Amino acid sequence: MPAAATPTICRICDEHCGILVSDAGHEVRIAGNPAHSISKGFVCFRGKNFGQVHNSPERLTRPLLRQGSDWKEISFDDALDVLAANFLRVKENYGAQSAVFFKGEAVKHLEVALYMRHLANGFGSPNYISIGSLCHYSQVMAHTLTYGGVPHPDFRRIKVALIWGANPAVSYPRTFGEMRKALREGMKLVVIDPACTGTAKHAHMHLQVRPGSDGFLALAFSKYAAESAGMAPPPGTATGWEELADVVRGLSYSELLKQADISRAKFEDAASLIFRNLPGWSQAGLGLESTPGGLQAIRADQDTSQNLRRSPAGLPPNHPRLDRGQCKRVDRNRALRPHFGVPLDEGAAGQS
Ligand code: SF4
Repeated sequence: MPAAATPTICRICDEHCGILVSDAGHEVRIAGNPAHSISKGFVCFRGKNFGQVHNSPERLTRPLLRQGSDWKEISFDDALDVLAANFLRVKENYGAQSAVFFKGEAVKHLEVALYMRHLANGFGSPNYISIGSLCHYSQVMAHTLTYGGVPHPDFRRIKVALIWGANPAVSYPRTFGEMRKALREGMKLVVIDPACTGTAKHAHMHLQVRPGSDGFLALAFSKYAAESAGMAPPPGTATGWEELADVVRGLSYSELLKQADISRAKFEDAASLIFRNLPGWSQAGLGLESTPGGLQAIRADQDTSQNLRRSPAGLPPNHPRLDRGQCKRVDRNRALRPHFGVPLDEGAAGQS
């Protein structure tokens, strides 16, 4: 008789769908959990087929020790002895701070991650990093600094979504399914991305920003929020708004939009579409996270999404031209580093 299914969550991506896992003897079966309050039975092909990874004959289940060009299977106790001896040798010869502890995606959110942090600290090394150190932490830090945490959309209420440097059509299939349902029910979608992504194909407006210049465009939206849409946080709910409004007042649309390579008409149309259809939600992704100014660009975007939570006042009359299906291919030399003055091909020419 097959064992009862165990309810748990899928950790392959940040959607964390509720799943039911059962052991059918020769294979592990995974299905969506209809009782999960958020995913309500949804499971994508990655989660559904993860049993194949679990059952794969190529999956490592025992430690392997390199011996010349070969690998020898050893016990976990022996593996711990080898690791401890090597760590202590490195510490003795080069000091504890010469060691780095790197945590991969497989142990994110697990207690193991905390144990590893303790291990690094106990060993005497401050060098604890993870896959998130390369990208996602700028997102987490930006949201935490700006308003305490990463928000999730409530599609029953929002009327406009701003997707910036992210492609949920591929990376967040459950959210994207909900987003498409909301679009059918009238929600507006603005996508900011240099690439013609699957998500951009569904957008009412697609702004193909110059890669790396997102912060300029985000400041232009902040300027629009403060000056044209007449927005401000309710008294006592935010610090630094007046200072930010002062900063953006001193900036010109022509310079900000020139850096972002977006025409004034297109910007006005997008801003009008966003601020006329509140409340809204904004999602930043890898396109912002992994740029040198990513943290501040996401904070500036969050200023827009913070503003997306309130109703507009005094918007000028405007009728945005919707531009579905006009995505252009990205010119690599248009991309990146206008601020450094180095076209990509020129930079690459000096490399061997
Ligand atoms: S969307 Fe797919 S991969 Fe992501 S958590 Fe849900 S089932 Fe897993």
